[in-house]
Amino acid sequence: MSHHDERTFVMAKPDAVQRGLTGEIVTRLEERGLKLVGAKFMQIDQKLAEQHYGEHADKPFFDELVEFITSGPVMAMVWQGADATRQVRQMMGATDPADAAPGTIRGDYGLDLGQNIIHGSDHEDEGANEREIELFFDEDELVEYERSDEPWVYEDE
Ligand code: UDP
Repeated sequence: MSHHDERTFVMAKPDAVQRGLTGEIVTRLEERGLKLVGAKFMQIDQKLAEQHYGEHADKPFFDELVEFITSGPVMAMVWQGADATRQVRQMMGATDPADAAPGTIRGDYGLDLGQNIIHGSDHEDEGANEREIELFFDEDELVEYERSDEPWVYEDE
């Protein structure tokens, strides 16, 4: 694996889908040079929601979080690229859109902590990206290909 083969899990949350922001999220990540290698438009059920947000099971906001994430369709995605997990987190902005910098996805489109548009694996939680990918995708649902602009994104291509 070369250094730009890191994969991360990203999700346009139900609020993003309802507000027509799915395309905007895809566009931003695409234009950055990240490569879409998996996508699934789906509705998350209770069990998957509880697994995905398991680390928050004892938090006061857990029930609301599960209710929200199961409330409508989401677009689950896998994006690949150099330092992909951390770079997507930077593009997302702070968890609370009220604190997210303008220019970030949450900072440009959100105002409410409970409806913050996008999920991306936590780069500070070792292996979270691969665990979340595995939870949502079978390996054969992920695609390997080269984007034609890769030599113009990575100098060493
Ligand atoms: N959340 C919430 N209330 C809180 C903290 C978090 O509703 O006090 C929601 C918020 O939508 C967030 C999700 O729970 O995106 C998961 O929280 P986490 O700390 O993992 O933030 P993230 O990784 O999404 O930035």
